[in-house]
Amino acid sequence: MTIQNSYRAQPSPDGHFGQFGGRYVAETLMPLILDLEREYRAAQADPAFQTELDWLLKHYVGRPSPLYYAERFTEAVRADAPEGMGAKVYLKRDELNHTGAHKINNCIGQILLAKRMGKTRIIAETGAGQHGVATATVAARFGLPCTIYMGARDTVRQQPNVFRMKLLGAEIVPVTAGAQTLKDAMNEALRDWVANVEDTFYIIGTAAGPHPYPELVRDFQSVIGREAREQIMEAEGRLPDLLVAAIGGGSNAIGLFHPFLDDADVRMVGIEAAGHGLDTVEHAASLAGGEPGVLHGNRTYLLQDEDGQITEGHSISAGLDYPGIGPEHSWLHETGRVQYESCTDREALDAFQFLCRTEGIIPALEPAHALSAVVRHARTMPRDQIIIANLCGRGDKDIFTVADALGVKI
Ligand SMILES: *Cc1c(COP(=O)(O)O)cnc(C)c1O
Repeated sequence: MTIQNSYRAQPSPDGHFGQFGGRYVAETLMPLILDLEREYRAAQADPAFQTELDWLLKHYVGRPSPLYYAERFTEAVRADAPEGMGAKVYLKRDELNHTGAHKINNCIGQILLAKRMGKTRIIAETGAGQHGVATATVAARFGLPCTIYMGARDTVRQQPNVFRMKLLGAEIVPVTAGAQTLKDAMNEALRDWVANVEDTFYIIGTAAGPHPYPELVRDFQSVIGREAREQIMEAEGRLPDLLVAAIGGGSNAIGLFHPFLDDADVRMVGIEAAGHGLDTVEHAASLAGGEPGVLHGNRTYLLQDEDGQITEGHSISAGLDYPGIGPEHSWLHETGRVQYESCTDREALDAFQFLCRTEGIIPALEPAHALSAVVRHARTMPRDQIIIANLCGRGDKDIFTVADALGVKI
């Protein structure tokens, strides 16, 4: 047995990141998951798979995304920072991808696996609808029928995304069980998968789910960190001092962090949504305010009440209210390799407006959480230090929410 002394060597063969992850699924699902894992290993070893993935990322998604020095943002932070302080802030511009966020990186990878496995039908779960839209997009691109499970309450709250998915040809199934939100949609999608083993591929939207999903989603999203690494070497001739990303389930964050995990001098901070505050129940910070448990086929930190019932997360940003966090983050938290902090709705709103005005970029509310933390950290770091923040989504989808929060009638 080899000794694993790399943070990048996880998960173990049975899918564990330390005590987290694994595959807690019904027996009927086991053969499907083993089949997926086998096919994923074969794809990893197949240059033709990588060639097709790279081609689509370049010509369909629009990669590589730029790594942009946010000079006016940096200057504005410096103007308000102690003498000599104010790190240089770079933004990884994944909001420029087709469909406006990072989710498409993962969906393209998974639909190529589906095709490779001869599957002819795609299913997915969605909360706010963003993963549903990304999945419906790739299903249309590959000509496969697609069913999206969505909590019935969410279908009402997220009508523009429901319509987008329909335009893209997807069938939406409103789930009326439980609280009628994301957790219930995930359960329903798993049920569909068991019932339709032969022809169906389940595209999971974040770095969670039973093994090998957390690993393969991470790998598909790691294109973000691989590009950022090359780009910062080209721009600055050295690695950054700090990486910052927002965390819902953790896919954009692990995608940025993973290629740097073994670089001991690169600090990393993941930002959970503190909603109305960690001292209230209205937040979505699974690490800061949750306990380990099992959800969506893996063991990880979860928001739960005293009876172990999963509670619903709250954030002004619909993409951050996943009630858990990917198992690799739980492990990176416990090992101390990555720091996890949080940011409230209010702080995210301030950072949202700050980026709009300093850079002419309207960010999604999810990365606005990360930007708030960037300001906090940059103020305490000398000017020759470098921060890379993941700008994982654009804000067009959020302008009504922001207007509402600011008391503006559109
Ligand atoms: C879905 C989403 C997130 C949260 O998901 P992760 O898996 O944590 O990345 C963050 N930002 C945007 C723009 C999203 O669409």
